[in-house]
Amino acid sequence: VKGDIHAEVVVLGAGPGGYTAAFRAADLGKQVVLIEKHASLGGVCLNVGCIPSKALLHVAKVINEAEEVSHHGVTFAKPKIDIDQIRSWKESVIGKLTGGLAGLAKQRKVQVVRGVAKFTSPNSLEVETAEGKKVVTFDHAIVAAGSSVARIPGFPYDDPRIIDSTGALALQDVPKRMLVIGGGIIGLEMATVYDALGAKISVVELMDQLMPGADKDMVKPLHTRIGKRYEAIMLKTKVTKIEATKVGLKVTFEGEQAPAEAQVYDKVLMAVGRRPNGREINAEAAGLVVNERGFIPVDKQMRTNVPHIFAIGDIVGDPMLAHKAVHEGKVAAENIAGHKAFFEPLTIPSVAYTDPEIAWMGLTETQAKAQGVEYEKASFPWAASGRALSIAREEGSTKVLLDPKSRRILGMGIVGVNAGELIAEGVLALEMGADMEDIGLTIHPHPTLSETLCFAAEMAEGTITDLL
Ligand code: FAD
Repeated sequence: VKGDIHAEVVVLGAGPGGYTAAFRAADLGKQVVLIEKHASLGGVCLNVGCIPSKALLHVAKVINEAEEVSHHGVTFAKPKIDIDQIRSWKESVIGKLTGGLAGLAKQRKVQVVRGVAKFTSPNSLEVETAEGKKVVTFDHAIVAAGSSVARIPGFPYDDPRIIDSTGALALQDVPKRMLVIGGGIIGLEMATVYDALGAKISVVELMDQLMPGADKDMVKPLHTRIGKRYEAIMLKTKVTKIEATKVGLKVTFEGEQAPAEAQVYDKVLMAVGRRPNGREINAEAAGLVVNERGFIPVDKQMRTNVPHIFAIGDIVGDPMLAHKAVHEGKVAAENIAGHKAFFEPLTIPSVAYTDPEIAWMGLTETQAKAQGVEYEKASFPWAASGRALSIAREEGSTKVLLDPKSRRILGMGIVGVNAGELIAEGVLALEMGADMEDIGLTIHPHPTLSETLCFAAEMAEGTITDLL
């Protein structure tokens, strides 16, 4: 049966996973239809995720650096914040990228259908478009419908003063006093932005550390720095009640570091994670398995339990990261085009673009201990790095974990400015099976922060001569 539109490959969702899969499939000669409910392509990442957050974090960085250089002999006036202009600059960054994607889709003759899609059978989808319902039939499908903001139930979400990451990125105003619920990557990145713009920030986190997932020693320099700047950081504490009052949101806490009395905030940012959209696409009509958390299970070729339907990105599991979605998208498209491709990275790096940044890849020390993996470690303190000192950011550290027998790299954690850029070398080293000698003998340019990996490797090998 042919619908209003027939596709050799239909891709559901135009986020980083979906557009990558669509483009790759088209490049391999397939006729591709890409379905997206939003006006612009790019998904969460380009519209309300990675890119806008990094644009605002750039503004925050410039403000903070201008403030810090006052300790080194250059004083700027207090910054004047034109929030409308910051917002429109951020929008222009998004516009360039999403517009670029639309052009790339056109070039490849990928047909974009705008509307909300739901499966109606293993070979058809119904799309609610502005012009009415359309039926799209397909030979192969790639589900890339992503994830949505998760919420703690029971709070008054109809109050506009409770926002999520999308609301925070919309940058309506700078609240005087803001509570961030959730001390993970997204919550702390947004806290970094609003702190720089002048808000008084409090963070509340259920776990016993900020940035759960990263090693505690990697989180400490960040905690120390923001502990001085923010109004409060409450660990092992949760919010039990939020009341909307005229003067603000009255928040009640419970836990080890809970304030004795309820606190009133101008805004509350809910950043407690994301949930996959597996239940939003009528997956059962296609016979697709969706697990209890809402993820669609796949094999290493990104194939679901229905052999001609693939799934990629946030909807197939953690970590919910754009670079994972992109690589999975390629694998799915290549398999559909008849190649034999597998998604089997040795590691997927994580980065928190806070100030300082925290990045990690491979095995963390916490995981190594929990799994009983034998390891050695070497940590190079940035206080001994000429480059770190010359940019006045010596709080960082670069840590490598290695296999005591083979001396190969098992994992790496970095905290410090630009950690997100630096971690890529660790990922490459791990993927290439590099050992400590390989890394230590690789000549790194001086003076750079990248040297700190080389120094850590030399520490592990006992060949380090001088700290500089
Ligand atoms: P998504 O990007 O979620 O795209 C799914 C698309 O499918 C959406 O466009 C949606 O509209 C569409 N869709 C869903 N259902 C339907 C339907 N039924 N019909 C039609 N269309 C549908 N990741 C990083 O790697 N680095 C970062 O720095 C980073 N920062 C982030 C910051 C924030 C604030 C947030 C929220 C996320 C961030 N992420 C980051 C995560 C990243 O955005 C996601 O991992 C990534 O977007 C997942 O891509 P995806 O293709 O799986 O799905």
